[in-house]
Amino acid sequence: MTMNRDALFPGSFDPFTMGHKSIVDQGLRLFDRIIVGVGANSDKQGLLTTENRVRLINDIYNDNPRVVAMPYDGLTGDFCRTLGLAFLLRGMRNTVDYEYERSIMLINRKLYPEITTVLLFTPPEYVAVSSSAIRELVGFGHDTVDLMPDNIDIKNYL
Ligand code: ADP
Repeated sequence: MTMNRDALFPGSFDPFTMGHKSIVDQGLRLFDRIIVGVGANSDKQGLLTTENRVRLINDIYNDNPRVVAMPYDGLTGDFCRTLGLAFLLRGMRNTVDYEYERSIMLINRKLYPEITTVLLFTPPEYVAVSSSAIRELVGFGHDTVDLMPDNIDIKNYL
């Protein structure tokens, strides 16, 4: 199989945040295209449907053909392989993320030796941004526009 310079950025993205966008934007310096894979089988409590998580991301990158979001079921490595991608992109805020990401990377390296995990750092202004914080703010009726890219109004995706 011929490998390209495209990467899969997998996650729950419930919802996609400024922090996630910072990883995609840095990733675009390394990769030709970034496929944002929205995992549909997460056992996390959901705020948005998978379809709306994908729509939100594609709305943000509407003008950029190098970024596309799509849903997937099953294991991330299998989806990466199905797409013929050699790189898994993930973001890291702190040492907690580091330990978690490292454990996933080690499993993926064993199962999918042809796939390389690339971890990028969050810029300091987004270290405290998380999907779970946004979900909590939305639950209490607070505005989340500063934490989301492009003045996205989450109410349009609930
Ligand atoms: P998952 O459920 O797979 O952890 P998330 O949607 O929570 O999915 O996160 C997807 C990726 O984005 C993960 O690599 C995570 O560490 C990273 N990430 C989450 N929040 C931020 C942030 N504020 N800055 C940078 N990366 C982040």
